[in-house]
Amino acid sequence: MAEKRDYYEVLGVSKSASPDEIKKAYRKLAKQYHPDVNPDNKEAEAKFKEVNEAYSVLSDEQKRAQYDRFGHDAFSGAGGAGFSGFDFGFGGLDDLFESFMGGFGRTRTKKTGPQRGNDLQYAIEITFEEAAFGVSKEISISRLQNCSVCGGSGAKPGTSAETCKRCQGTGQIRYTQATPFGQFVNVKTCDACRGEGKIITNPCDNCHGKGRVSKTSRISINIPAGIDDGQTISLRGEGEPGLRGGPAGDLYVTIHIKPHAIFKREGYDVVCDVPISFTQAALGAEIDIPTIDGIAKYNIPEGTQTGTVFKLRGKGIKHLRSNNRGDQYIRVNVEVPTKLSQKQKELLRQFAEVSGDEGLEQKKGFFNKVKDLFKEN
Ligand SMILES: [Zn+2]
Ligand SMILES: [Zn+2]
Repeated sequence: MAEKRDYYEVLGVSKSASPDEIKKAYRKLAKQYHPDVNPDNKEAEAKFKEVNEAYSVLSDEQKRAQYDRFGHDAFSGAGGAGFSGFDFGFGGLDDLFESFMGGFGRTRTKKTGPQRGNDLQYAIEITFEEAAFGVSKEISISRLQNCSVCGGSGAKPGTSAETCKRCQGTGQIRYTQATPFGQFVNVKTCDACRGEGKIITNPCDNCHGKGRVSKTSRISINIPAGIDDGQTISLRGEGEPGLRGGPAGDLYVTIHIKPHAIFKREGYDVVCDVPISFTQAALGAEIDIPTIDGIAKYNIPEGTQTGTVFKLRGKGIKHLRSNNRGDQYIRVNVEVPTKLSQKQKELLRQFAEVSGDEGLEQKKGFFNKVKDLFKEN
């Protein structure tokens, strides 16, 4: 008989480790050496047992105290400390994850129990206006549904699935292994029924025994006003149906917004560039402003500079969770004409003669700085 390793050493924790630290160390090692991830690996199997044995003692306050006082002697010999076998009843790696991680790998729960249906993903593209005001859309998705011919049992109508004889319908096979340290009861998935607990001898023709068929369904989705690009709407229970009475999965619809010809969105605000002429900029003007509600009039003051931003309060996008609206920002860009008639040119020359740098404060300021800069030379 090989020398038994110290239980603390096995779990890689100190003698003063807290129950939490012990549990953590155990989870990590149990996953690492679990037979499901190390098929036909004798060394891993032995490690797995060693880890389980150490944990069964160190996780129990009384047993741990005994072990601390007497070491391995505490548990050896007939009638010694009163336990000789370890029954952990692990169904498989999934169970280990399930019980420790709290819902980790929820689509891979124990095969014989109710199983939640898979979640489905869908992406949809909508327009800028649809996102701003909300829209109802119908989508068609292909998803598994319970077979209507056999009602989901997978067995030909009039017949039924038979209980697996090998595992008596439990889907699992328990086997006992004797080791020098005691008896271990292990559990593995039944290979006759693949863990289903039932064997279908006359499979349904429609679904070939699967109990489910892929079917295209039309689902209508209400997309709320204010939704933004990349956001996801979840529709509970619109995923694939569950197995053995398990709940259906959910459907996740991700929204993509097509770029708009003139509007840009920043959160709930709308930004828009509006070109104006230099006479409008100089003299001021009432201009047409596009908003998501339609054309609006806006008075730009005389002497408006290119790049000036005006704000139209409450003309943006409705907030998702309130009736408030964002704002619209208008950035005006002064457009310099490129093709001038002789008459236009003449008028502009006259304008230049009359005005000089009059009223061009930026220009004056700039060239004063330039003069200062080169004064020395
Ligand atoms: Zn069927
Ligand atoms: Zn079976």
